[in-house]
Amino acid sequence: MPSLAERLAVPPVTTVFERMSALARETGAINLGQGFPDLPDPPELIAAAQRALAQRSNQYPPMRGLPDLRRAVAGWYAQHQGLALDEGNVVITSGATEALAAALLALVRPGDEVVLVQPCYDAYQPLIERAGGTVRFVNLAPPLWTLDPAALTAAIGPNTRGIVLNTPNNPVGTVLDRAALEAVGALSRDHDLWLVCDEVWEGMILDGNAHLSALAIPALADRTVKIGSAGKIFSLTGWKVGWAVAAPPLVAAVAARHQFLTFTTAPALQWAVAEGLTLPPEWHAAHRARYIQARDAFVAALTLAGFHVLPAAGTWFVTIDLAASALPPDDQAVALRLVHEAGVAAIPVSAFYAERPERGFLRLCFAKDDDTLALAADRLAAFRRQA
Ligand code: PMP
Ligand code: GLN
Repeated sequence: MPSLAERLAVPPVTTVFERMSALARETGAINLGQGFPDLPDPPELIAAAQRALAQRSNQYPPMRGLPDLRRAVAGWYAQHQGLALDEGNVVITSGATEALAAALLALVRPGDEVVLVQPCYDAYQPLIERAGGTVRFVNLAPPLWTLDPAALTAAIGPNTRGIVLNTPNNPVGTVLDRAALEAVGALSRDHDLWLVCDEVWEGMILDGNAHLSALAIPALADRTVKIGSAGKIFSLTGWKVGWAVAAPPLVAAVAARHQFLTFTTAPALQWAVAEGLTLPPEWHAAHRARYIQARDAFVAALTLAGFHVLPAAGTWFVTIDLAASALPPDDQAVALRLVHEAGVAAIPVSAFYAERPERGFLRLCFAKDDDTLALAADRLAAFRRQA
């Protein structure tokens, strides 16, 4: 029988985001690691939350979320993604993280195998394993990070029950196109798989294209749980208002787990997000435009300094190819040197791998004000000159 200490030793104890933010605080480095904006909060949302706190009930909202918010989520997806949904397709959670946990607890049985695509967000594997499942990894191919349907097919075995995808992708910012999602649809239908599609970055596609949801693919519509986050749509990461969207039987299974994870989410924030989601498309376009400006200025400064920045469609991140930037191709070592020697914290992309990592790439968050980005770019340029 393992001791208590052995039973508590579940690696990793803290996420790479926590570790890099702590290191940035200790060293006083500019924190381009953990993904959060330091641009002004949207005033419409702050005012709506203040009004709701003062004027609405602060007691338990309904377990599945305020009907107004569930309708607003469905309405936003109809308007921005052409999806035909209603409040019966939506459960509100405490952030996308809880939606992921509830979905994976609902879908994974002990012994089930789940396919993950690397680089992948850090929460998926521990949640699947906590539910008793095991993971098989498929790697995206750099530098374009395309998903090879044949590699996905090869990862499907007799015990495979589901796939987790993330589009746009954190950390590398690429999106799955219709052909890739249709290939996943055909595979899921043939093998009777479920799909959890983490689409939290759907509001931050910065290349002018519309987001394509897995729910828009007919073969996936009844077997997909789509995950969303107001934290990303409105740049309010601390609010932790998220949701899962799916066909009614799937959403009921997710809600049954949400019921015993957090039961519900702060009502004032739910009211504020409901109001925010009914803001006109022009509001969202202007919100995105601020991030496009930040990304363009930062990429231009990095490129001028000799860095090779990989193309990406969205998120708050850009990725540097270290070897193509004439830097040593060991992302962990470079990230540590950067924080200590240059005063800039970044996230090594290899932290998004559990096996067979790509080590030559670094993720930088550009969701910062102009002066912070300019100073960070100067520091990175000086580091590269002497590295
Ligand atoms: N999934 C991805 C891909 C993310 O990048 C994040 C947060 N950065 C989350 C889920 C978690 O979102 P939330 O803060 O709403 O829990
Ligand atoms: N998702 C955020 C990022 O990619 C971090 C979230 C967290 O710290 N858990 O930076």
